Amino acid sequence: MKKHRDLDNPVKFKPDYTWPKDGTKRACPKNNEPLQLQENLPQYYGKPWWCHHCQWQFTEEDLKSDDFCKLPS
Ligand SMILES: [Zn+2]
Repeated sequence: MKKHRDLDNPVKFKPDYTWPKDGTKRACPKNNEPLQLQENLPQYYGKPWWCHHCQWQFTEEDLKSDDFCKLPS
């Protein structure tokens, strides 16, 4: 019996986010709280950064974008 169950997942596209290096620190652009860096696991499809205060995910590009920081919350 081989384990093929993982391959049955219809979602095969993993977004090609730039993943920060371990130990990188970032702050949330909305409330300046420290962001949590997620592990870049094959089965994780979310963005690298997570703010558990505003329940929001960020990419490195989001954090570098001035426009993004000006978005209304
Ligand atoms: Zn936040």
